[in-house]
Amino acid sequence: MTLDQAQDLAAALGLPRFRGEQAWRWVHGKGAIAWDEMTNIGPEVRARLAEGAQIGTLTLAEVQRSKDGTKKLRFTTRDGYSIESVLIPDGEKTTQCISSQVGCAVDCQFCATAKLGLTRNLDAGEIADQVYRARALLAAEEPDRRITNLVYMGMGEPLHNYDNVMRSLRILTSDLGVGIGQRRITVSTAGLVPRLEKLGNEDVRPNLAVSLNASNDRVRDEIMPINKKWNIAKLLGALRAYPLEHRRRVTFEYVLLAGVNDSLADAADLAKLLRGHRCKVNIIPFNPHPEAGYTRPSPEAITAFQNECKRLGLPTYLRTPRGDDIDAACGQLANRSNGELLVPLRVKKRASPPAPNVD
Ligand code: SAH
Repeated sequence: MTLDQAQDLAAALGLPRFRGEQAWRWVHGKGAIAWDEMTNIGPEVRARLAEGAQIGTLTLAEVQRSKDGTKKLRFTTRDGYSIESVLIPDGEKTTQCISSQVGCAVDCQFCATAKLGLTRNLDAGEIADQVYRARALLAAEEPDRRITNLVYMGMGEPLHNYDNVMRSLRILTSDLGVGIGQRRITVSTAGLVPRLEKLGNEDVRPNLAVSLNASNDRVRDEIMPINKKWNIAKLLGALRAYPLEHRRRVTFEYVLLAGVNDSLADAADLAKLLRGHRCKVNIIPFNPHPEAGYTRPSPEAITAFQNECKRLGLPTYLRTPRGDDIDAACGQLANRSNGELLVPLRVKKRASPPAPNVD
């Protein structure tokens, strides 16, 4: 619930609105998972509130630790599904990568999560709870670290779960909760054009990342079937119209796949395509997983691609894989533990892509 919803609930239960705010602060500020932790609310009022709300939605089922310090957290939902979240230490910063859905419907051919298919959306509480549970883990294990940044880049397509993602943004940015600033939050999308247009009109303004991954429609159609619905021209058109705030840029993600989109001609096409956009490109060398029929380009090919982009004036950053030894890097989240799948995949290996049934 957002703070407003909690206050409305209190009122609907015949309680003063501030009781809703008190309970909300316990859950979203202090990470309470049991009603009796709420020491400034009497037992009768707590029992009344508990009639209308559940708290503590996720259970931390497993923590996997990478040799680079990255931790992959697997959570179980109340109805028994698994989702994953990744804590990535980076100097003073700690970024948490959170999931927005159980599985994903988008079917990008290079992504392990796509092979799970979509089970259901996460609700706003389940999205936010990943942060509270991770924060509690950090407090126990590395008390000097705080979660400073959030990226909606875990399992799922955030804009397919638009309302819950917006609600979670309102919750997580609230000063009465964990209060993570909107400039420290990034929402990443495979490119749902109508929802991008809607996002541009919201009052909460996270950073925007867009998974472009190709420099022409022929390749993008093949690796991201969603491109058949909204092609590169439509996507870039929507982004040109996107009301970016002062000094902000859109991040384009570009997964580098050997022999597919990594040639110097691709780099040149990409630079041309993005000319005039206030943007930067994050190059993500393909992270392998057993379900994908792709390979990572050689270090020389990666450098050559990046240098060509730079030479043509396109700002690019190379994303170093983090947590790839525990299947926690970009595109590897599929509920694996020690390399074993804990939940069977629902989509066949290299299935021929169906037309995406999304609006
Ligand atoms: N559905 C959203 C959020 C996921 S973000 C989106 O598509 O943006 C995950 C990022 O990892 C995306 O940019 C995706 O293109 C990238 N990715 C997926 N599979 C990958 C892989 N195997 N190796 C490297 N990057 C991958």
